[in-house]
Amino acid sequence: MQLYNTLSAEERAQLIDEVGKERLTLSFYAYAKIENPKKFRDDLFIAWNALDALGRIYVAHEGINAQMSVPADNFEAFRETLEAYDFMKGIRLNVAVEQDNHSFLKLTIKVRNKIVADGLNDDTFDVTNKGIHLKAKEFNNLLADPNTIVVDFRNHYESEVGHFEGAITPDVESFRESLPIINEQLQDYKEDKNLLMYCTGGIRCEKASAYFKHQGFKNVYQLEGGIIEYARQVKEEGIESKFLGKNFVFDHRLGERITDDIIAQCHQCGKPCDNHTNCANDACHLLFIQCDECKAAMENCCSAECLEIIHLPLEQQVELRKGLQVGNKIFRKGKSPALKFKHSGNSSTQILAKAKAATKDIRQKIKVKKVCIGKGEHYYSKSQIGQFLIEKGDLALGEKVLISGPTTGKQEFTITQLFVNGHPAETAKEGDQITFKIPFRIRLSDKLYKILED
Ligand SMILES: [Zn+2]
Ligand SMILES: [Zn+2]
Repeated sequence: MQLYNTLSAEERAQLIDEVGKERLTLSFYAYAKIENPKKFRDDLFIAWNALDALGRIYVAHEGINAQMSVPADNFEAFRETLEAYDFMKGIRLNVAVEQDNHSFLKLTIKVRNKIVADGLNDDTFDVTNKGIHLKAKEFNNLLADPNTIVVDFRNHYESEVGHFEGAITPDVESFRESLPIINEQLQDYKEDKNLLMYCTGGIRCEKASAYFKHQGFKNVYQLEGGIIEYARQVKEEGIESKFLGKNFVFDHRLGERITDDIIAQCHQCGKPCDNHTNCANDACHLLFIQCDECKAAMENCCSAECLEIIHLPLEQQVELRKGLQVGNKIFRKGKSPALKFKHSGNSSTQILAKAKAATKDIRQKIKVKKVCIGKGEHYYSKSQIGQFLIEKGDLALGEKVLISGPTTGKQEFTITQLFVNGHPAETAKEGDQITFKIPFRIRLSDKLYKILED
């Protein structure tokens, strides 16, 4: 019986593109008593793997916390796998507003001690004595009450790109860290103020609200389903969004736009920007905000040092990496002295700019007709030249291409010069090895698509 992934992220991305079917990014959680988490985990893996469901899921004796990507066609069948468990009957699935077929490329289900690392000893307080759950409209009403304190229970890199107006955004790198800090900060408000809390999908508040009630806070409220569900209700019911900017999410998208307000800055040049990225130096992989200009100039690196490293031969890079800790790569704490414009802690809600294309509709994306014509073979970083193999069809000067891969993302590009097997050419055909100058790094087996204008 297969209980683990057999495909790499690259192979999976390729397969998803070839199949060409729409996928849904969703999340859910449930606190429950689970006797045998290991068996629970294996049963879920078998059921979900059969449905081509992907994601990052934690299970523990205390319940389940899941972030997933499910084929739209299998959505009902997927829901049935949840209904099989009493504690998940009728469970609310938080479906993301923005969809990306590559949000998750593996099915990873891990057994943990807890589904959220909160550092709390659950035996010392009543975890079921939770705060009052609020819907978007109710949340907005309470937000307008001068007697309310609103606290963001996420980390600095999350609140930096988007948060509720007037929220306290602690300068923390983990949820565990935030609890005592907030408790200390709000000591004098336990009796009379409304403590209004929120997080990404609601799960952190489930525990935090009970903890704060135990700490003596009398009026504790939490945003039901978190920012994800808030955004859905805002859209569906036409409510004004009091959340500004982007909702940071833990998948390849790294953020979901809620309003077109940009409240963060490029960490390198200070220009209004809220696009997170990971440093292209695999040994660094720092999570930071970078604008398109800096991305091109710095080749997606966080510092001059990293830029220098990615231009070294691969063997030398591996040699340099030896002995270095590269743990928790994707969500490294996101702070570095190289980033001049990194602000954290009580971030302002000052709107610095407006995003151009707000909330892209998935149907709009599908409408762009493209055809896969080949794959990436090599990137010469010094000369910024990408090498591709044309596997089918053809390509000519002036045509637009899309280069897509799990690390590269989706990059559009117009062909203004072209070399076929090393010689300048105007067209290339099946079987040709082509090279051209390209301002961003491509990876082995990135897919090369030709964009067809209609
Ligand atoms: Zn910049
Ligand atoms: Zn770096």
